[in-house]
Amino acid sequence: MNIHEHQAKAVLREFGVPVPNGFPVFTAAEAANAAKYLKDSPVFVVKSQIHAGGRGKGRFAELGPDAKGGVRVVKTAAEVEENAKEMLGKTLVTVQTGPKGKVVNRLYIEEGADIQRELYFSMLVDRETSRIAVVASTEGGMDIEKVAHETPDKIHTFQIDPATGVMPHHGRAVAKALDLKGDQAKQMARILGQLYTAFTAKDMSLLEVNPLIVTGDGKVVLLDAKISFDDNAEYRHPELSELRDLTEEDEKEVEASKFDLSYIALDGDIGCMVNGAGLAMATMDIIKLYGAEPANFLDVGGGASKEKVTAAFKIITSDPAVKGILVNIFGGIMRCDIIAEGVIAAVKEVGLKVPLVVRLEGTNVDLGKKILNESGLDVIAADDLADAAEKIVKAVKG
Ligand code: GDP
Ligand code: MN
Repeated sequence: MNIHEHQAKAVLREFGVPVPNGFPVFTAAEAANAAKYLKDSPVFVVKSQIHAGGRGKGRFAELGPDAKGGVRVVKTAAEVEENAKEMLGKTLVTVQTGPKGKVVNRLYIEEGADIQRELYFSMLVDRETSRIAVVASTEGGMDIEKVAHETPDKIHTFQIDPATGVMPHHGRAVAKALDLKGDQAKQMARILGQLYTAFTAKDMSLLEVNPLIVTGDGKVVLLDAKISFDDNAEYRHPELSELRDLTEEDEKEVEASKFDLSYIALDGDIGCMVNGAGLAMATMDIIKLYGAEPANFLDVGGGASKEKVTAAFKIITSDPAVKGILVNIFGGIMRCDIIAEGVIAAVKEVGLKVPLVVRLEGTNVDLGKKILNESGLDVIAADDLADAAEKIVKAVKG
């Protein structure tokens, strides 16, 4: 699960991490009010809250290329209100949103910072070493992928052993990587400890701070923060569920999560319903091999019920981009007759406007095929995976 910048900063503030003061707002009037609360600040920053980075350099689709981006530094409360009015409800397009962009429904009004240096800091779960990795670079405020590509020597990485947690030498390593000395190195060591505690306590999978800054009066502060939480640990954190912003998520993925389906929306036009993540991956691969693109990844799981299969099929057909559907089931724990019943139930409810290819194999396969045959549904039967992929691609492309 991803959260907004202002939420990430609120989570980190609880652990003592230095972040600027600010208020999330949903209207221009609230924005003006927030600026009044931050009245001691010489400048204000109006920040678009969307689940994507690159906001500063992003552009609003409705405002044209000459308008300012998604992060604006202004001097007065009146300007805060004016900019909020201009930004709210508009579509921000950044390198991370893709060309469609994301609608800005909330802003974060923050006190401005006097930036002397912009640094990069992140923590993530490193699967290779089974440890939390720290990535630090003096090249903050920029696209870190570009820095990694062009000047890899400017990126420093080390791992923290979970048995010891953060040790003094880790503090020194990160300070050295960021070229921080004296009191600033001490601040950084303390922040590293706080961030590590927050990371493990909240079961994060990623924490990215770009930029981490040094202010004019020598303070180390987090100016931006991105957090992703490990969904597998969701049950341990009921306090985090209220941070979820469903408007930032794909509607179909939200619907799928209600039925505990592993569903990821993709850009292609062939909807897939498969059991088992491995078979789902193989199905996507073979669709590509035959020259088309999958519209989704969907694993209905092992012991899926008829209701779950029905929900899955409805989610696939609700996607207007889907021009054909491939059902590929290898019945082990999953029974082919359940799949057949689920498909028929869903078609009865929502209809079937696109070609449907079904490949069934395994437990109760004959019963499954019989149910489909007798349903009167216009199903194209397939013998194996390759045959199924070939048939659906042909049916879609003509
Ligand atoms: P991102 O573009 O989505 O990564 O959003 P950021 O929060 O990183 O903001 C983008 C850039 O805006 C930062 O790298 C800073 O250069 C600038 N910025 C953000 N807050 C302030 C601030 O308080 N003062 C000044 N002068 N610039 C800021
Ligand atoms: Mn940033």
